[in-house]
Amino acid sequence: MDYVGHVIRPPSEAYSMIIQVTVGCSHNMCTFCGTYKGQKFRIKDMATIKRDIDEASRYRFERAFLADGDVLILPMETILEIVGYIKKKNRHIERIGVYANTKAILKKSVAELRRLREAGIGILYQGIETGNKEILRKIKKGAFPHRMKEAAAKVKESGILLSQTVLLGIGGVEMSRAHAEDTGRLLGEMSPDYASALTVMLLPNTELYRDFQAGRFRLPDKFGLLEELRIIVENMDVKSKCLFTSNHASNYLPLRAVLPDQKEEILELLDRVLKMRDERLLKPEHMRAL
Ligand code: SF4
Repeated sequence: MDYVGHVIRPPSEAYSMIIQVTVGCSHNMCTFCGTYKGQKFRIKDMATIKRDIDEASRYRFERAFLADGDVLILPMETILEIVGYIKKKNRHIERIGVYANTKAILKKSVAELRRLREAGIGILYQGIETGNKEILRKIKKGAFPHRMKEAAAKVKESGILLSQTVLLGIGGVEMSRAHAEDTGRLLGEMSPDYASALTVMLLPNTELYRDFQAGRFRLPDKFGLLEELRIIVENMDVKSKCLFTSNHASNYLPLRAVLPDQKEEILELLDRVLKMRDERLLKPEHMRAL
């Protein structure tokens, strides 16, 4: 397979056929993200993409994921050609997923998103990070809450599943509460099908790391991060069922709950852990990863 650089995928795509369609991320500005630093965004040539699909098609997959950072930004014809070829070569593929930033979603009309769904795109993964406008500006996310809401509404209207991620700790100690409250509220308003909380990892090749070293950014401690998780869930008044997870390798406490049904249950669990403040209940530092 022709994999260039770090090829990342969401945890839920662990058993998917991973086809690298683009290299890097079209935005590549987020201060906390070191994944594609120094990597110029480009689309791979169609012959290479198809060769990879041919090779992967020797095995049976039910899901496929198109990497890297922001495949939805590509022209409709390009995405449709790739998706069509995957479906032609793999009759067992039931769902194809891609990362999609807010700008890329907004560039597509609902009709175009519907066309992508009919062609096989079944899920979009949108990085939210926080619902707080000030933090979004600081981390150079390139999108604000009202635009994220617009994008989420379009995806839901198209019938494609929407999975969103937020980042515990991204507001630092100073904006921890505001980050958690605004994030929970925004997730509730958008009501994605899936929402996951990850935890900020300070990576040496990032601007956030340099801020941390210079004392301009302080990460909440383990229990401060759990407190954020609690506030997010508390403020998350979803309008439809949402599978909320915090089982990413970066987190200290893995959770999995269907909201709103299990909201009280998850809040009680978090309250117990926060009250005990026993580090043995948390994932050891050496087992955390991106
Ligand atoms: S977090 Fe996502 S949008 Fe931001 S630079 Fe990294 S890959 Fe690109």
